[in-house]
Amino acid sequence: MNGCSRSPWIHLRTVLDRYHFSFKRLNTPRVNAPMKRCKSSRKDMLNQRPLARHIIMRFSTKAIHAGQDPDPATGSVTVPVYLTSTYMQVKPGREGKYVYSRTANPTRNALEQSLAALEDGKVGLAFSSGLAATTTVLMLLQKGDHVVAGDDIYGGTYRLFDQVLRNYGLQFTYVDPRSPDKVEKAVRKNTKLIWIETPTNPLMRVVDIRAISKIAKKNHAMIVVDNTFASPYLQNPLKLGADISVHSTTKYLGGHSDLIGGAAITADADTGKRLKFLQNAVGAVPGPLDCWLVLRGIKTLAVRMDRHNSNAKQISEFLLKQPKVDQVYYPGLSDHPQRDIVKRQMRGYGGMLSFELKGGFRECEKLLTKLSIFTLAESLGGVESLIEHPASMTHASIPRQRRLEKGIKDTLIRMSVGIEDVEDLVEDLRRGFKGL
Ligand code: PLP
Repeated sequence: MNGCSRSPWIHLRTVLDRYHFSFKRLNTPRVNAPMKRCKSSRKDMLNQRPLARHIIMRFSTKAIHAGQDPDPATGSVTVPVYLTSTYMQVKPGREGKYVYSRTANPTRNALEQSLAALEDGKVGLAFSSGLAATTTVLMLLQKGDHVVAGDDIYGGTYRLFDQVLRNYGLQFTYVDPRSPDKVEKAVRKNTKLIWIETPTNPLMRVVDIRAISKIAKKNHAMIVVDNTFASPYLQNPLKLGADISVHSTTKYLGGHSDLIGGAAITADADTGKRLKFLQNAVGAVPGPLDCWLVLRGIKTLAVRMDRHNSNAKQISEFLLKQPKVDQVYYPGLSDHPQRDIVKRQMRGYGGMLSFELKGGFRECEKLLTKLSIFTLAESLGGVESLIEHPASMTHASIPRQRRLEKGIKDTLIRMSVGIEDVEDLVEDLRRGFKGL
């Protein structure tokens, strides 16, 4: 049967072929005669094209092509948004590749392949939020298991660990992960997981992933790295010994502040299998449209990160010169305390920075309400510059005393530097600092 015909039957067959249905050749009447100039079907042509997945690609090429071959049914260059919850089956008990969209969906599948490629992993899994990814990863543990976690992690992760998962019999100890000794001392017989974030939120501390991975391996515990702040463009935890890399795709991977999503990627097939089971069993999966938005964001990740990086570096240098600024925290500064680790494990510094303002909360409030381009908002990693006050916003869920012990003062301000013209960002800040 010639695929150049526009017969609806052939179109249906082309689509269903993708789901591994088999067909007997039937004597169906042709509705349209085949176009003469077509020698082979679209599907044949697509099958003849060497697939990008068989080629070794560099980062930006992977970001655009990995998991994103043209759609076999239509040739669509972008992955279609498969807005479906379920899939037709030919016979009871004879399933195709897709059965139900909580378990798998072609758009999500494309995103998951892309995520795995970007982190050099084997299995990538997408979730409905960063915290959904974290929750599902923690479901790998059993009641009575112990977790050593960094003491400078995202406030929502801390809240999940301390106010939710603790009630289900998991135990947590928080230590400063900049000291591998402290991490090792906190490990117990029942320690099954070490959780770190680097660079940390909001103090931009850097943790030596390789050193902590060695401790985890020695103690037969898993190490999970929240790689949200760096993104896979700047840092690949799996290559440094981590078992799982977790992301809030809401941030740099999505990149446009228009979705909520999460990801977990592993290079270990068995861990991937267990996580895949949990992804389906727990059910915190993203919808296909959100998956598509993340895929679109990923295509420009490299160029966006380069610009975030150079803008943030220039802003950090501007802030250092401000008499009203006490301290600037940015991994790209030459006096960053873990500069050697930054150079070893990161390929750039990212768009996140924090600084302490002289004075008190009133000064912070004054500055934050005088800016026109920086938007006062939580979140990070989008093309637009955001600014926030961790003590009253992102980290308000941490009790004040604990927050202060961790070094998050009431005068700390955090910025997610966007990709606008840096001169406009500097002028905005200059106007803000005037009259403080
Ligand atoms: N990890 C980090 C470092 C974050 O900053 C956030 C959110 O801000 C999360 C995880 C949670 O992600 P989500 O908001 O997508 O659940």
